[in-house]
Amino acid sequence: MPHIAQLSPHVADLIAAGEVVERPASVVKELTENAIDAGAHSVTVEIQNGGMTLIRVTDDGCGIAPEECGTAFLRHATSKIRTEHDLEAIGTLGFRGEALAAVASVSRLELLTRRETDPLGTALGLEGGVVLGQEEAGCPQGTTMLVRDLFYNTPARLKFMKKDAAEGAACLAAVQRQALAHPEVAFKFIRDGKQELLTPGDGRLHSALYAVLGRDLALGFVPVEGSGEDMAVSGFVSLPTCCRGTRGYQFFFVNGRYVKSKSMTAALEQAYANQRMVGKFPGCVLHLTVKLNQVDVNVHPTKQEVKFGAERQVFSTVHYAVLAALGADKSRPAATVGGLASAAEQGRQTFLPLHDVATPKAPVSRPKTPELPARGPAPVPPPAPAPVPTPSRPAAPPRTAAAEKPLNAPATLPKAEVQRPVEPAVSAEPIPVREPVSPPPPPLLEEDVQELPWHIAGELFHTYIMVEQGDKVLLIDKHAAHERMNFDRMRAEDYSPMSQILLSPVVFTPAPEEHALLLEHLEELDRVGFEVEDFGGGSLAVRSIPDYLEMGDIESALTEIAGKLALTGATGLRERRDEILHTMACKAAIKGGWQSAPQELERAAQAVMAGEVKYCPHGRPVAVELTRTELEKQFKRRT
Ligand code: ADP
Ligand code: MG
Repeated sequence: MPHIAQLSPHVADLIAAGEVVERPASVVKELTENAIDAGAHSVTVEIQNGGMTLIRVTDDGCGIAPEECGTAFLRHATSKIRTEHDLEAIGTLGFRGEALAAVASVSRLELLTRRETDPLGTALGLEGGVVLGQEEAGCPQGTTMLVRDLFYNTPARLKFMKKDAAEGAACLAAVQRQALAHPEVAFKFIRDGKQELLTPGDGRLHSALYAVLGRDLALGFVPVEGSGEDMAVSGFVSLPTCCRGTRGYQFFFVNGRYVKSKSMTAALEQAYANQRMVGKFPGCVLHLTVKLNQVDVNVHPTKQEVKFGAERQVFSTVHYAVLAALGADKSRPAATVGGLASAAEQGRQTFLPLHDVATPKAPVSRPKTPELPARGPAPVPPPAPAPVPTPSRPAAPPRTAAAEKPLNAPATLPKAEVQRPVEPAVSAEPIPVREPVSPPPPPLLEEDVQELPWHIAGELFHTYIMVEQGDKVLLIDKHAAHERMNFDRMRAEDYSPMSQILLSPVVFTPAPEEHALLLEHLEELDRVGFEVEDFGGGSLAVRSIPDYLEMGDIESALTEIAGKLALTGATGLRERRDEILHTMACKAAIKGGWQSAPQELERAAQAVMAGEVKYCPHGRPVAVELTRTELEKQFKRRT
């Protein structure tokens, strides 16, 4: 073994630098954090070649005293904490005093800074962490850090860098997060001379969201506001119809710091259960404020992971706030008339063209005449189990007059879950250190549909119920609405349907995989009303079916269930059961293209108008809206 010896400070610095500075985006993150900690109102980030050749961060913050400029670049040199006790309540973004030392040790760096009270500023140059010189310089108040030739002296690290485009994109993402974290700061991002981001810094989170995500996406977000014991959450979440294929639009912040948190992600996503489409993820910009001593930010060098004192509290505060936000959203997607939806409405309907809502089956003949009520009177459901048991959750609120009607689906459940009143304000102690984010702007489209009288004006294509209400017309997809009503009812009843024995068994041959899957889950099938047996030769015999199922739907229902069993093999029982209920709810629903009795249409409309039903279980909307103004524009009665 070679002798043991302490590493030279230079080598130790390089090792430490590797932990903080992984890539250009890490430099952008650290320098912008410093700017925010310095109280800047505006921060400009400029990069060239993905940040590899140049990163310049300019702020109008407090600046650095001439005699402290050199100190700032020493390891463990910080103005933000002094004693070990300060570690228990960290209110700044930085505190380790390592970033500047790390960045300087792997680049050529120039600092230019001036405090408001100093007549002259300071210029300081470093190379590989070694100070080249310091002199007085005329400059505006604030600080500019110019970082050139990142990793020039660590060729091993250099090799790991991706293409400029990828590194540049990561830098932009870092600035976007800061912009969403601090709407009170105006951010500008310039890549290779081109401005790619500009936020107003007006303190409104919605303005920052608009600037970062763009107009179309921003329009699909609704405000969130909620509080729990010693904590508060606010921000925006996407409507179920505006969910995306990735989690890339999920931004969580704790006391102004961007974080990744499993509890918060789960709290968000579970609020969308049965509302979003499979494989799509909600977006959010959620700010959680907790008491400083309730969160440990010191668990990771780049401080992206945080530990909460009360993970459960965090989960339920976020979860119920999001549920309430989704429940409170009364807006409906707008129908497009000849491509002329209003600007505000266009954003919403991007994801749901009218023709996408349901595909009417071709034949308009109805195989079975419905006796009304087709499925017998629906029992009043017992309260559904809350996703997270909270002792403080009050009983379900009294049902509204509209919901009192003996609907086929008394779908008040999701409402009961979301109407948990928000508890009184958070602790009296000042939680956030920086200026709090101003309250979110009023909801994007807030209309109280319950107030206005409405009536059914007709039915289109045996598929869409036309409801006139005040100055607008709603087109309700009767199948989607009914499917949702069924689903909520089945779920509330912990669904166990009447089974109907077939006079002679129905035999069919599914694909070999489906055959195996169905046989593996006979018990589960039994619970949803199917009695199935192996018929030999790859075939199955179906002896009984749920009472509402059409004979013609047996095979399609079972193969659909098989598909779900295959897909959800890895997920929890509850999810799998919900998936199967989706199928059953769909099969039990009145079909688009078929004639329905007026009472059935009335019931579906009732549920939609009372706000009980908004999305089908797959997240498709059940109703779209058309305003009188839009129609009048079409007929040139208005411009
Ligand atoms: P930390 O942020 O953890 O304190 P850094 O190495 O990032 O450590 O910065 C060291 C110190 O330099 C900070 O504590 C702060 O006093 C000063 N500083 C860094 N950047 C700026 C800036 N943009 N404006 C004013 N002071 C700054
Ligand atoms: Mg710092």
